[in-house]
Amino acid sequence: MADESAIQSIVTPVRMEYTFTPGAASQRFLLGLAAGKLMGQRCPECRKVYVPPRGACPRCGVATRDEVEVADRGTVTTFCIVRVPSENIDLELPYTAAQILLDGADIPFFALIQECPWDQVRMGMRVEAVWRPEAEWGPTFENIRHFRPTGEPDVPFERFQQHL
Ligand SMILES: [Zn+2]
Repeated sequence: MADESAIQSIVTPVRMEYTFTPGAASQRFLLGLAAGKLMGQRCPECRKVYVPPRGACPRCGVATRDEVEVADRGTVTTFCIVRVPSENIDLELPYTAAQILLDGADIPFFALIQECPWDQVRMGMRVEAVWRPEAEWGPTFENIRHFRPTGEPDVPFERFQQHL
């Protein structure tokens, strides 16, 4: 009988190349990033602000056209601790990635948390964006290196629970 425990994993290189063509809402968001702004769109019916905007409210099914600038700081709603290495992420393990409800937005935004030990990240923690130098800005999320704690008091769960 063969020893079935001998091979426990294999490495299979996989590559995918694609071109992303942003729609009008994504273009405005990316151009906002190039200018150091986080731009969302407000639904004309439910008044929710989506960041990044997708051009329509998934709840109401109507187009969103009102541009709204939101803050580059917010509240951690949920988070995960990453312990698995990745070739294209040069971070010390473990690290934390979080859903951040930016001030002025109604849906959270996914980003890395740094400048804080991974085991101190918590729901309700206030964080702010750390931007790259302005000379390096382009129409990309990479303008923001990560988010870090602001030191403000935590936000009570009741104030963000409807945004999870
Ligand atoms: Zn809506």
